[in-house]
Amino acid sequence: AQPLLIVRDLKKHFPVRSGLMGKAEKVHAVDGVSFRIGKGETLGIVGESGCGKSTTTRLLLDLTRRDAGEIIFDGRGLGGGRDGISLKELRRGMQMVFQDSSTSLNPRARILDIVMFPLRAAGVDRTKARDRASMLLDRVGLHPQAFGHRFAHELSGGQRQRVNIARALATAPRLVILDEAVSALDKSVEADVLNLLADLKAEEGLTYLFISHDLGVVREVSDRVMVMYLGQIAEIGPAETIYDRPGHPYTRALLAAVPSLDPAKQIAEPPLKGDPPNPINPEPGCRFRARCPYAEGVCKAIDPAPVPVGEVEISCHMCNRASGHSQAADWLDA
Ligand code: SF4
Ligand code: MG
Repeated sequence: AQPLLIVRDLKKHFPVRSGLMGKAEKVHAVDGVSFRIGKGETLGIVGESGCGKSTTTRLLLDLTRRDAGEIIFDGRGLGGGRDGISLKELRRGMQMVFQDSSTSLNPRARILDIVMFPLRAAGVDRTKARDRASMLLDRVGLHPQAFGHRFAHELSGGQRQRVNIARALATAPRLVILDEAVSALDKSVEADVLNLLADLKAEEGLTYLFISHDLGVVREVSDRVMVMYLGQIAEIGPAETIYDRPGHPYTRALLAAVPSLDPAKQIAEPPLKGDPPNPINPEPGCRFRARCPYAEGVCKAIDPAPVPVGEVEISCHMCNRASGHSQAADWLDA
């Protein structure tokens, strides 16, 4: 598929003060992340909390200002001069649905007004905005006559998330970022909302960036999957390949914790030890090495760059060497 979004070398280092002396240091929240999403595709992002999943999406929408990196939406770079895309256009084309929480919907606004708001903000007149908002509420399964005048607290969690989806679709975006969008829902409600998302995707020709800590759900919805560890991409590729034959030791450890229905496909790997290391001023070398059962000398010396292994890209010296790419060869030969 043609890429809808291209991200190159995205970086965000947050300044922090640490220790008794309040030493100025940097949290490497997102540290050189590059990926693309094809038109009509769903890219899933997985990784433990703090791996940079949410920061990455905030950087895409410039809700957090990036330190470095290129964001190219449908062929046009953000902040890219005359042929570039403005932030306003980008935010219209790329919308976000967060985990349902008390803060995601204005408690004092009626549902119809909530869905109308982005349209009014985009300059759509009141009647047209009302018509489109009613249509969208209807489309997400909330009859506008029955729900339009209600307030968020009068809805169930699943209904509130439908409102969030309707609002995200108001400006007819092409890419929708779903950041733990179904995570707060009961399993049966979650399945209904996932079905709705799949229908909307097909009907509207949407592209999804789907973030979840639930590896099973990510597998179900994603065409491709990106595995993040401490602000970097460990592995990215087709969902089936990543889940059935993960290469990166971190992906293997993550998936080993998920029981497979097919015992032949169960990933056998020792469970993850401890917590991810502190992302403040990480030492050189592979970020995963303190928890990796395969770490060797080169892993301490060189930060592994992503290398294509078949359809997958993996950032691991061992995997790269096994596949015939010897990124580490110079180091080993020396
Ligand atoms: Fe483990 Fe080394 Fe691969 Fe990192 S580069 S995942 S430490 S084998
Ligand atoms: Mg998050």
